[in-house]
Amino acid sequence: MTDCLFCRMVAGEVPATVVHETDRTLAFRDINPQAPTHVLVVPKQHHPTVAALAEADPDLLAAVVRAAAAVAVQEGLATEDGVEPGYRVVTNTGPQAGQSVPHVHLHVLGGRDLTWPPG
Ligand code: 5GP
Ligand code: ZN
Repeated sequence: MTDCLFCRMVAGEVPATVVHETDRTLAFRDINPQAPTHVLVVPKQHHPTVAALAEADPDLLAAVVRAAAAVAVQEGLATEDGVEPGYRVVTNTGPQAGQSVPHVHLHVLGGRDLTWPPG
């Protein structure tokens, strides 16, 4: 989709600070970080929401989650076999949840205590 911001980032038309990449996923730093680590993980293929992705391509959804886990390890938020210190994976769906880019993305947040419930 040529008018989709994250498709354009995947295509290299909009600059991104890429921290992790696979053949099917891209992870880059959020432009407006809400925590010391705030990385967005996207499938390279356009799907609007996590539910749409799960329906269309569950293997790709799993690849996006694996990429988020790899980012967490890379950023020092977890170890390969442990969950310390920990991190949060968030995906917003729809306007009331604050989804502002209609290309599914996982927020990987960490590096500080994260309050619960989220706002
Ligand atoms: P949402 O609000 O849809 O859950 O998340 C979209 C995220 O994309 C926001 O956290 C926002 O800061 C981030 N974002 C918006 N535009 C850009 C951009 O041009 N570059 C990067 N790296 N992040 C962006
Ligand atoms: Zn897109």
